[in-house]
Amino acid sequence: MRSFTKSTKLDNVAYDVRGPVLDEAMAMEAAGAKILKLNIGNPATFNFEAPDCIVNEIADKLTASEGYSNSKGILEAREAIVQYTRYKGIEGVTAEDVYTGNGLSELINMCMQALLDNGDEILIPSPDYPLWTATATLAGGKVVHYICDERSDWMPDVADIRRKITPKTKAIVIINPNNPTGALYSRDVLEQIAQVARENDLMIFADEIYDRLLMDGAEHTSIAAIAPDLFVVTLNGLSKSHLIAGYRVGWMSLSGDKESAKSYIEGLNMLSSMRLCSNVPAQRAIKPALANLDATKALLLPGGRIYEQRNAVCDALDKIDGISYVRPRGAFYVFPKIEAKRFNITNDEQFVLDFLRQKHVLLVHGGGFHWEQPDHFRIVFLPPVETLYESMQKLGEFLEDYHQSL
Ligand code: PLP
Repeated sequence: MRSFTKSTKLDNVAYDVRGPVLDEAMAMEAAGAKILKLNIGNPATFNFEAPDCIVNEIADKLTASEGYSNSKGILEAREAIVQYTRYKGIEGVTAEDVYTGNGLSELINMCMQALLDNGDEILIPSPDYPLWTATATLAGGKVVHYICDERSDWMPDVADIRRKITPKTKAIVIINPNNPTGALYSRDVLEQIAQVARENDLMIFADEIYDRLLMDGAEHTSIAAIAPDLFVVTLNGLSKSHLIAGYRVGWMSLSGDKESAKSYIEGLNMLSSMRLCSNVPAQRAIKPALANLDATKALLLPGGRIYEQRNAVCDALDKIDGISYVRPRGAFYVFPKIEAKRFNITNDEQFVLDFLRQKHVLLVHGGGFHWEQPDHFRIVFLPPVETLYESMQKLGEFLEDYHQSL
């Protein structure tokens, strides 16, 4: 009998939809175990609710949203995004330069499909949000990971970026604020990256989905704002800042030297038309969301849930021997380092699996974010403080006598 196999294009794409750790967690749950989940950046899972202004707007406009829209999106949403780019100091973006997407995920894929031919190289951070690496690989590109340096608060190592540029390098991706490290990039580092792009004719992709999720009075700088001469694709969305990941709302804006990217933009337009348009009711969320930038701000201030949960997880980590971390200032992730030698850890996925089996807490290993050393894991601090304390206490207990044996 004929067997249906997946396309060989997917063979090189390292994107674990499930993976052994998640499979095990689901099997344990099915067998009745209660798992503490610190693995997923989905606010709704932890009872964060969508702001009323968004829900009401979508409900009111449902009947007006029945048809396909312009493939880039409804004008009112794209104009609101243009206003937002101005607020961020990005010059020269018009509604024609804006594309809405079913989440940023769809647009990331589109950006990579439009850019990369077989063998073209693209610089992506390590650690990364793994969709970037997966979509670039699927498009036929060769991903070259540059290091973000933990000793410099996880800033991109610009010397490493420079070292890794070849005649085949087409673009550089930055994720700022970063998933999984929670780092917020300094203006100085962004200027250095822009200079590298300028000297080497590189396109820049800036994933800024966490730019409104900042703590401790930190301020975000868009690289497009400080490099108006360069062609930059800035990507953003509402999944995180407005807690509506399920609505699937993202966008991207093109700025800088669009003339040099004429052919690339033609490709984007073609791909945008091929999917007809993004979900129109969800596009209705954009205008009210961007008119209410403070809708979720209280969560990030002292007394707010995300702020207090960040502090709780950091306080608890401070008490665990063998763990260190850089305090995140953005997003809702921390990427702690574990003393791999001390616990004989040579396989970080096994470490996370052993912890899950023994203590029923689910984390993601650093390798899931293209971090090569087996010495990191990611914690999502969206769960309530009690869950975070309980999980970290279990981690401390687990490490008291953990010695990896494979
Ligand atoms: N980019 C980063 C850095 C993310 O962390 C995520 C989701 O976790 C996405 C993009 C995808 O976002 P969306 O829900 O808009 O597809």
